[in-house]
Amino acid sequence: MEAADLRISDVIAHPLRARLPQAQRTSQGDWPALDIAVVEVRTDAGITGWGECLARTSSPAYAAAVETILKPVLAGRNPFDAAALWRAMRGRLTGRAGGMLVESIAGVDIALWDIMGKAAGLPVHRLLGGVGRAEVFAYASSINWGDDARAEAETRDCLARGFRAIKVKIGQTPRAAIARAELVRKVAGPDIRLSVDANWAFDIDEATEVGEALAALGYWWFEEPIPPEDIEGYRLLRQRTKVRLAAGESDFVATQARDLLATRSVGVIQPDAARAGGITETRRIADLADAFHVAYAPHVGWSGALCAAASVQLAAAQPNFLVYECMVFDNPLREELLVSRVGSHRDLVGGNVAVPQGPGLGVEVDRDALARFTVR
Ligand SMILES: [Mg+2]
Repeated sequence: MEAADLRISDVIAHPLRARLPQAQRTSQGDWPALDIAVVEVRTDAGITGWGECLARTSSPAYAAAVETILKPVLAGRNPFDAAALWRAMRGRLTGRAGGMLVESIAGVDIALWDIMGKAAGLPVHRLLGGVGRAEVFAYASSINWGDDARAEAETRDCLARGFRAIKVKIGQTPRAAIARAELVRKVAGPDIRLSVDANWAFDIDEATEVGEALAALGYWWFEEPIPPEDIEGYRLLRQRTKVRLAAGESDFVATQARDLLATRSVGVIQPDAARAGGITETRRIADLADAFHVAYAPHVGWSGALCAAASVQLAAAQPNFLVYECMVFDNPLREELLVSRVGSHRDLVGGNVAVPQGPGLGVEVDRDALARFTVR
């Protein structure tokens, strides 16, 4: 069958949940378990595509959104109409709905790119016409916002795995945050690229104080120092501190990233493919950043294996790619969902992760694992 004749025949959303072997801690609290929703898009040619929606705590709600809100506009359509389908899915709710709707669209959109790649016999990064990296530079994410002993042990573990870049979670107070940044710099030494992530823990004055210390310690970037919607705050903070600011994981669409980029408030933009509308919209954000000479660093966070796969493909393609977020804690939804892992800290070579070269996302979902993690 020709690509022009492909038709979507079914859309199935799988709500998944996994308990983590060890709870993760950020300035926003403890996370003992994680949810994702996996989207399976079938075609009449027998090609199936897979995608993922960021869901965090409530994957059944996302699965319902995919199957009740989005599926009606997909039936019988050609997956190569991905951009048109993106607009049609966004238009299913009145107004310019973002949030959960765009996260739901992400799962479908990633699956459509998987189908397009499989139909063309090309990996997604080739379909994107990208620069075609065979492997991508990775940073370890993240040293938990726990006690000093845990932070030191986690840092040593990342170094032992061969990481050349590490991110550190920080939170209140500014003094405690600075002490943590100092500790990790001392353990890692001067040659490792270090960044911090505050997950919006600070106001602008606190962030200024922390930012000054980070600059003096030679940190690479200061991520989400203040709440993501405070665009003016980011602009002011950029003028007050020398350290590079990073943000964007909390944004859903390019129009949200636009103001951070146009004011050069951030030096790194970090859309998450499973939140920011999939490959179609994430690429738009990364391209927009490139137009402002801002680096793109895909956010993967606590997402699962299909988000990692999409992110590695985008990283391989985008000219302004900087570094890939490689999560270092064990997450069954990332390590066990596929027949073979992708973008995993367990497969690091020289501080890089390999880019799958097979068609589509270059990965295969393990249906037994899918069933094992499904919320019933
Ligand atoms: Mg972050």
